[in-house]
Amino acid sequence: MARLRIPKSLRLMGHDIEVVMVDDLIEECELLGDCDFYENVIRIQTPIPGILTRSQAVQTYYHELLHFAFHLTGYEKESQDEQMVDRIAQLIHQALVSAKYK
Ligand SMILES: [Zn+2]
Repeated sequence: MARLRIPKSLRLMGHDIEVVMVDDLIEECELLGDCDFYENVIRIQTPIPGILTRSQAVQTYYHELLHFAFHLTGYEKESQDEQMVDRIAQLIHQALVSAKYK
């Protein structure tokens, strides 16, 4: 199994997006992650033993990344479809984690 990482930043369609790990996102907002399309920031809850695993935090990162991808490509309705975003994020996460190379 590949050990995926959450980056500090990335660029999508010329936009520099910062990824911030937050200690109290669950407590403050009852969220594992969120996107700020105006500030170009993705926030992810840091893993919490017994509550949120590292793998779940990484999967949340892909979820938020997909929100950004749909938003920046003009698929606003799709960006707001939580169920679809989550399912695709889970598939991408699983494909990357389980990928084997020669
Ligand atoms: Zn979402």
